[in-house]
Amino acid sequence: METLIRLTAALSIFGVMVFWEYLKPRRILPVERLVRWPINLGLAAINMLMMRLTVGSAAYLAAVDAEENHWGILNLINLPDSLNIIISLLILDFAIYWQHVLSHKWPLLWRLHQVHHCDLAFDATTAVRFHPLEILFSMFYKVAFIYLIGADAFAVILFEIILNGAATFNHSNISIPESLDKKLRFLIVTPDMHRIHHSTIKTETDSNYGFSITCWDRLCSTYKAQPKYSQEQMPIGLDCYRDKKELGFLNLCLMPFRAPSK
Ligand SMILES: [Zn+2]
Repeated sequence: METLIRLTAALSIFGVMVFWEYLKPRRILPVERLVRWPINLGLAAINMLMMRLTVGSAAYLAAVDAEENHWGILNLINLPDSLNIIISLLILDFAIYWQHVLSHKWPLLWRLHQVHHCDLAFDATTAVRFHPLEILFSMFYKVAFIYLIGADAFAVILFEIILNGAATFNHSNISIPESLDKKLRFLIVTPDMHRIHHSTIKTETDSNYGFSITCWDRLCSTYKAQPKYSQEQMPIGLDCYRDKKELGFLNLCLMPFRAPSK
């Protein structure tokens, strides 16, 4: 049931964003959808199948297990449910911010994360373009935090839905009026903000790590408001991978095991 809720939410948000991209695109995509989409969606399908067959519900089950055994800080103190959920959501989101920073700074994790970053374009399918090993690592990382803080089980399901929805939204190639984008950024990560993180310019890639809310980047001084070049013109991807022939499905799967970029 928990998997069905997450899957329905993810597919619905993905459908809405793709339709929005079709109606109001932000940039002309440099690589045809027919080339990129089978690769990105192929990785998503493998990841989904792998999680279904292995540890797909591990985060939720960890929260239930932690509660039953009174493990984790929040299970040791008696807070109202609503406060418990809010604190769980905030800590998990901050943990994911740091996982993302770590994925850029730690060479071993960068080998996995570069699969996401070498996409030559930026749209809703980029949000699901992850190497299966990075998805597995992310799940174990989350489980460790859930046990440590004793995250609420309902908050964990909510967090997975929000994280997935926010990632699909902020990777979308959609046009949002500048004034609205500015207002939204007080709280949430917009596509114009996250696109900067996908720039080929290193100082821009090393910014805007947040997925859902903008406060972590502001607090940790990694927030960048605008790219060097315009949103329409800024180059996307990694300098070391510019040839789309090198970025086929098999090469992406093998990328972490080859010489690292950067
Ligand atoms: Zn990144």
